[in-house]
Amino acid sequence: MSNKKIFLSLGQQSGFEQEYVQKALDENWITSGGPNVDDFENKLENYLGQESFVAALNSGTSAIHLALILLGVGTGDEVICQSMTFSATANPVLYQGAIPVFIDSESDTWNICPEILEIAIKDRIKKGKKPKAIITVHLYGVPYKVDEIHAIADRYQIPIIEDSAEALGSTYKGKKCGTFGTFGIFSFNGNKIITTSSGGVLISNSEKTKKEIIFYSTQSKDEAVHYQHSKIGYNYRMSNVCAGIGLGQMKILDKKIASRREMHDFYKSIFKDIESVKLFEVLNEEYFSNYWLSAILIEPNDKINRENLRAAFENANIESRPLWKPMHLQPVFDKYPYYGGVIAEELFEKGLCLPSGANIKEEDRNRIKRVISNFFK
Ligand SMILES: *Cc1c(COP(=O)(O)O)cnc(C)c1O
Repeated sequence: MSNKKIFLSLGQQSGFEQEYVQKALDENWITSGGPNVDDFENKLENYLGQESFVAALNSGTSAIHLALILLGVGTGDEVICQSMTFSATANPVLYQGAIPVFIDSESDTWNICPEILEIAIKDRIKKGKKPKAIITVHLYGVPYKVDEIHAIADRYQIPIIEDSAEALGSTYKGKKCGTFGTFGIFSFNGNKIITTSSGGVLISNSEKTKKEIIFYSTQSKDEAVHYQHSKIGYNYRMSNVCAGIGLGQMKILDKKIASRREMHDFYKSIFKDIESVKLFEVLNEEYFSNYWLSAILIEPNDKINRENLRAAFENANIESRPLWKPMHLQPVFDKYPYYGGVIAEELFEKGLCLPSGANIKEEDRNRIKRVISNFFK
């Protein structure tokens, strides 16, 4: 029996990537921007629906950064941010010299809590500063309470940047994640649903804004025969070679989502009879998750806890990982305001992400299953 390492989230090729990458090389479009980039943007625009305008960039992080810049976030401004997330959600706030204000999760979706969000907005306004933006996250592909959160943001007229890095293909009430906010982003980092090796997109709702994003991402060159700049520029455009990989990946996007969801079903069947474990699932049929990563909460007792199970997996050469450590607990962010209780903290203490890649085979599943049954025996 093979003991090859089983990874949390590996990429998987469609076989078409080579063709598009070769085309870029053959045509000497070894550049940032180019025909593959335009095609990739079009494919995503078709996928997301008519009112979405997609600008391809070199990472999800740069997409969040440019969204903040386009919203005019600058030194000393406040930006509300879901605490339970990866650091790339919050880092761009600091790039702008702005102040992140972190919000706890609620236990239904593990995402930003509507009640606490409103309390925080009111309190920040009372303290003299209305937040300039809200960054929301669809954690591990599970949509947040979109209607409630956006109603609150609308009431106070604060724009939302929807960090949909993990949620390509997820929907809420049939509408695709990444299309709800003033801006939405996806990441195509190597471990995400689809990859361009490294890359991301910033989604807006007008052609004009898309052009502006491309302007900033290509060094903010004014119209002139010489190099003329009236705005700070960034080198954030997607490479035409990388976009070729993305075009190949788009061909199997649906298949990739289906296999992530199959992994989730697999865990569902394993954990249904284990009382101390709760599998992370959508609240009801209004939510559809790509289940980018399957995650569980383990109720600890004197014999079992999250860390024991992680170690048992490690001993069997299987990768698993604690949930994101909340931002308000991170040394780099812990001096910034935080609103809420201990929901995110508890999720972090009890939560574990399990192998969820599209490449996990039957024999790998058997190995995973064996570790779990031995552990909970
Ligand atoms: C991956 C990820 C990002 C960053 O995307 P990159 O393309 O790696 O820069 C941002 N937010 C979340 C929630 C992510 O998971």
